[in-house]
Amino acid sequence: MRPLQMVDTKTQYQKIKKEVDTAVIAVMESSQFIGGKLVNDFANNLAAYHGAKHCIPCANGTDALQIAMMALGLKAGDEVITPSFTYIATVEVAALLGIKPIFIEVDKQSFCMDPAVIEKAITPKTKAIVPVHLYGQAADMEKIMAIAQKHKLFVIEDNAQAIGSVYEFSNGTKKKTGAIGDIGCTSFYPSKNLGAYGDGGAMLTNDDALADKLRMIASHGQSKRYYHDVVGCNSRLDAMQAAILDIKLKHLDEYIDARRKAADYYDAAFASNPKIAVPYRAANNKHVFHQYTLTLNGVDRDALHQFLADNGVPSMIYYPVPAHRQKMFEAFGGSDYNLEITDWLTERVISLPIHTELDEEQQQFIVNKVLEFVNK
Ligand SMILES: *Cc1c(COP(=O)(O)O)cnc(C)c1O
Repeated sequence: MRPLQMVDTKTQYQKIKKEVDTAVIAVMESSQFIGGKLVNDFANNLAAYHGAKHCIPCANGTDALQIAMMALGLKAGDEVITPSFTYIATVEVAALLGIKPIFIEVDKQSFCMDPAVIEKAITPKTKAIVPVHLYGQAADMEKIMAIAQKHKLFVIEDNAQAIGSVYEFSNGTKKKTGAIGDIGCTSFYPSKNLGAYGDGGAMLTNDDALADKLRMIASHGQSKRYYHDVVGCNSRLDAMQAAILDIKLKHLDEYIDARRKAADYYDAAFASNPKIAVPYRAANNKHVFHQYTLTLNGVDRDALHQFLADNGVPSMIYYPVPAHRQKMFEAFGGSDYNLEITDWLTERVISLPIHTELDEEQQQFIVNKVLEFVNK
């Protein structure tokens, strides 16, 4: 059996090695390392993939979120509504800009922001809602968009974990996550579903004026070279990463299928076990399984994590400490929150290896070890 890994980017690379190597050498030979045709081509292809009008590449997913908040004119003293059960980047960028994150609960099944509690969190200072499509599953965007419209709030989607996910509205309209809100942000961190061989990120929008602002802020606030209209930052996707991502984008749907197939295998093995809740799949959403995350019931999660490690099975806890309990947010009143579902999940979730290269022998081994411990 091939060694088990949370994500196997190496085997994936072997399958596209020839194409990638040729493209990377071509970048070096062209010496066009920053900007240029390859970056523009990739941005256009990514926008088209999402059915979005504009794609603005940047240096990483965290920058994408920060630039999005800056472009929407959010400033110190404003508030954004976000889940606490997320990766820190979502909320850290708000704090960095002096914006107060208002943490709300997630839905116990979907792990995403619970729309039912959004309105209670709205104040006169609220400017935006920031849903996170956690683990590859879309948040309940129909309800979120309706609330945002009613209260004239912006929606910034954190789509770092759900690129390729498709959300269906009740009228039958289907949209890719990241192309639903005012701005969609994504990350090309190597382990993400569309991973670069280094860092990268992008922002999507359908709004022409907003696209100009995003582009300007990501490039030192320049309207034209050496004319700086607003305070911006320096956030670029380099040509080498763009070339690699453009190749991988062509495989993205097939990568998603492989992840979904692996998830089906786990589901079939675990679904009947009363101590294990398999990931929920909303009927109106195509889950892309960035993570395959179980919720345990009456099982010592940390002991299982250790048992798996001792048996050569990697697993991860995403995330052991929710944002509102991080020291970082003490100054933002983090300890004032009482988010029972978030705390409950934090103690019970465990993510198993899932990626494009898992084979049945590997999955059978993982399943056997999990069940061996759970059924003890
Ligand atoms: C990975 C990730 C980010 C940040 O992306 P980077 O490219 O690492 O900066 C933001 N939000 C979520 C939910 C993520 O998973």
